[in-house]
Amino acid sequence: MVGDGEAGQETVHQQMAREMAEVRLRMGRVRRKWLVLSGKGGVGKSTVAVNLALSLAAMGYEVGLLDVDIHGPSVPKLLGIEDARPTVRDGAIVPMAVAGIRTMSIGFLLQHGDAATIWRGPMKANVIKQFLKDVEWGDLDYLVIDSPPGTGDEPLSVAQLVETAAGSAVSAPRSGGASNGALIVTTPQELAVIDVRKAITFCRSVNLPVLGVIENMSGFVCPHCGARTDVFGRGGAERMAAEMKVPFLGAIPFDPRLVESGDSGQPFTQLHADSEAAKAFARIVRALAPPARPEERKA
Ligand code: ADP
Repeated sequence: MVGDGEAGQETVHQQMAREMAEVRLRMGRVRRKWLVLSGKGGVGKSTVAVNLALSLAAMGYEVGLLDVDIHGPSVPKLLGIEDARPTVRDGAIVPMAVAGIRTMSIGFLLQHGDAATIWRGPMKANVIKQFLKDVEWGDLDYLVIDSPPGTGDEPLSVAQLVETAAGSAVSAPRSGGASNGALIVTTPQELAVIDVRKAITFCRSVNLPVLGVIENMSGFVCPHCGARTDVFGRGGAERMAAEMKVPFLGAIPFDPRLVESGDSGQPFTQLHADSEAAKAFARIVRALAPPARPEERKA
């Protein structure tokens, strides 16, 4: 009978319980999990996830970056490690060390970046779970998770797993800081902002706290004449955040160097630390996570 299992064999329920216990064990060594979500694709979710992770690392935190954006895993490209191949040690996947963070991407499992689109739902959910339980993250202050876009089954799996794992945090982060939850990225356009409402409702339905909303590609300052152009409008996300009673975390301006850095796999916030965009990323992480005390840095 289904579920009873032969003597010595694990039942489906036992397997699920064991796997969730493994997720909790692994995630218990991660003090804070930030899930980076967007209502739709193309708003800069992955770019924001990478640069938030880099900005946290620059503050002295131990940071992991997990890319489970199954339809467009772009972290390997953004960090210039597309040709890297993860290895396994003692039965666990070893994350890549790059630019001061540890990272793992579902993209490393895909041939030519297209295989995931033909995977069926349960297989996708399994791969996502495997990345939370089988990657040897070690002790982390923050795990930034680049989620699939939208509010469908895939971000739902990630959100539920993060919510399950959230109860497993061993202790508060070393210097306080925002708890587990979602950071929602949008552009200022009305259409994108409508999708954010859905994303907030989605987080509430799975009891995932919304840490706040980030407006990306918010205005462009011409490097030649200094004039500001609000390409996609401005302030839409802040108004919506106020209406939905969630924090507005800040605006990242449009900066063509973000595209260049992404295309060439260079860490933007390290290369252009003085840019308005890098300062905006730093302000956001400072608001959510105070700098690690010097004696605690990389302890
Ligand atoms: P998503 O993960 O939401 O699909 P990406 O992070 O892949 O979006 O970004 C989509 C494109 O927009 C990329 O080419 C990226 O370089 C560019 N981009 C993202 N944020 C900015 C920004 N603030 N300024 C300029 N280009 C940006």
